[in-house]
Amino acid sequence: MEQKRLLVVGAHSADFVWRAAGAIAKHTLGGGDARVVALSYGERGESGELWKEPGQTVENVKRHRHAEAEAAANEVGASFEGFDLGDYPLQITDEAIERLAELMRDYRPHIVLTHPDKDPFNPDHPVASTAVSRARLLTAGAVVEAGFRTAPPSEFLVFEPHQPELCGFVPSLFVDITEVFEQKKRAMGCMKAQSYLQQYYAERAEHRGNHARKVTGDKSIRQAEAFMRLVPNVVGAL
Ligand SMILES: [Zn+2]
Repeated sequence: MEQKRLLVVGAHSADFVWRAAGAIAKHTLGGGDARVVALSYGERGESGELWKEPGQTVENVKRHRHAEAEAAANEVGASFEGFDLGDYPLQITDEAIERLAELMRDYRPHIVLTHPDKDPFNPDHPVASTAVSRARLLTAGAVVEAGFRTAPPSEFLVFEPHQPELCGFVPSLFVDITEVFEQKKRAMGCMKAQSYLQQYYAERAEHRGNHARKVTGDKSIRQAEAFMRLVPNVVGAL
């Protein structure tokens, strides 16, 4: 069977860790391949603790953030790539869309995962979401013969934002991450610039585990991550 490929795209280098590290770990544990792309390092807006060091520079913060994200991706069996487009504000050029679309045409992901398109607290997450959506459509075409190189259509999911109800996020999929929760905690532990989020997202995983238990009646589920499908899943039969 062909190896399943998961592409996760975040606005900032740590976004994937809080919201999808468990799902990525579970995917690679099952023999799948996973790639993480960060459109920026979150060097200005999401690296607060690094900026407390006297004499800190943008270049140094970016280096730190690259190393942290690479280590975290490593913990969950994924590769990491930074586009380094700048953050707060993240600005997406036509070249960046084309770079992302080229990556999708080459990698041919079965699943694309990114931010929801709405977030009243973050200037960059919706911008990333729109960019991923555009690149994905430029990759898939309209599922008819196209005048450009295409890849097969992928599943399209968004991961859970910080305050889901304010971002129009309603879960339609839970991934049981019980088996890989220690891996997720280690991945979160790599993100020293945002250590305050570790407890928050560990607690979120426990809550989502409770919800997933309710849905399934499966008492062995301890922790879960929530996702929302943007396109329906298709099955052969009910
Ligand atoms: Zn972010």
